[in-house]
Amino acid sequence: MNKAVLTAMNEQVNHEMFSAYLYLSMSAWFEARNLRGMAKWMRSQAGEEMEHAMKFYDFIFERGDKVDLKAIEQPKSDFESAQAIFEEALAHEKKVTALINRIYDIAVAEKDYPAQVLLQWFIKEQVEEEDNVGQAVEMLKMTDGKSYQLLMLDGKFGARAD
Ligand code: MG
Repeated sequence: MNKAVLTAMNEQVNHEMFSAYLYLSMSAWFEARNLRGMAKWMRSQAGEEMEHAMKFYDFIFERGDKVDLKAIEQPKSDFESAQAIFEEALAHEKKVTALINRIYDIAVAEKDYPAQVLLQWFIKEQVEEEDNVGQAVEMLKMTDGKSYQLLMLDGKFGARAD
């Protein structure tokens, strides 16, 4: 595979694994506060991020190259509120979208067509991610920080299918 594309994809394996770690940390925050629905939501999200990492991982090997795993950054564990967590998750997804777009730019510049096909899946996935997390933020805003509404919403989030 083209060197620039390979480097960017190897870095993205790490970014996706960090995403999984960050969402697991958010899940742990909810778990500790007995907001089990939101904990489950974030845990499912963490699982999806691992799948994203593995999509890049498998693709690198399929192309005859080698994965280069690096240390995963420690995620923060201290959050202000449920709403703040989902707002941070949304900001994080926007950063990931920018990273994916950047790799796509490289793949286009290097005329790496198979990489472009893989990345198009991710581009579509990011639209979904931002939509889902954005919707969660909007619903949390409606609770106005009230416990009863938060508990109602927790049940709703817990119904998320893996
Ligand atoms: Mg991802």
